[in-house]
Amino acid sequence: MCGIVAYAGGRSALGVLLGGLPLLEHPDCDSAGLALLVDGGLAAAKKTGTLDDLRRELRLRPLPAATTGIGHLRRATHGSPTDLNAHPHLDGSGRVAVVQNGDIADHGRLRDELASRGHELVSETDTEAAAHLLAGHYSSCGDPAEAMRQVCRQLTGSFALVAVHADEPDVVVGGCRGLPLILGTGDGETFLASDPAAFAPHTGEAAAVGDDRVVTVRPEGAWVTDLDGVPVDPRPYEVRPGSRDGRGEDEVVGGSR
Ligand code: GLU
Repeated sequence: MCGIVAYAGGRSALGVLLGGLPLLEHPDCDSAGLALLVDGGLAAAKKTGTLDDLRRELRLRPLPAATTGIGHLRRATHGSPTDLNAHPHLDGSGRVAVVQNGDIADHGRLRDELASRGHELVSETDTEAAAHLLAGHYSSCGDPAEAMRQVCRQLTGSFALVAVHADEPDVVVGGCRGLPLILGTGDGETFLASDPAAFAPHTGEAAAVGDDRVVTVRPEGAWVTDLDGVPVDPRPYEVRPGSRDGRGEDEVVGGSR
């Protein structure tokens, strides 16, 4: 695993993501990518290699301005490190974009089931199955958090999933089990990351989403529930710029993770 950072707020999401991802970069990362919510649609870019390779791609094919987005650094577990297997992964309609840290244990069965229902999966990854499942649940329930809860209930393994839907401007949803997702609360802006290092330059107010929880992130705040939809209040803690969970542990103050 390398990292996830997501943003909903008033600034350039691209700027926040490209500022946060280097704080999570690790020599084992093999690819990078991001998706932005743009004018009722999605714009995405992804590339094998380092963040420099993604930056080069963005210079060649710039993305439109946006204030909501998700970013990812991949360390491949399912499927080789290729541009196609890099995250984000989209559903068939291109309305949902998903990034994931971890390993969805039953992805082979899920991919076979999706294929038997006519879904065309274009990558070799476990994550793409989650994008198709999320889009299907969203089209039935019309609620991105409920769709994410249904996906999390379906999956086995350890994962941190973060998604945007083109029909839900200003909204990022996340769900995790066995791997961290950390909320960062700012003034009119909210961050979600696999490690608070990614947003610590912007806000010191962090809270762990927690296992088998789903979070809805909007510029004005975040809402966490368990997988039955019961609201949960994650305990806040303080982070400082430069802190990184698992490294620089002493830099995290008032910790309750
Ligand atoms: N299992 C996913 C993949 O292979 C995510 C790997 C990661 O944590 O970066 O694409």
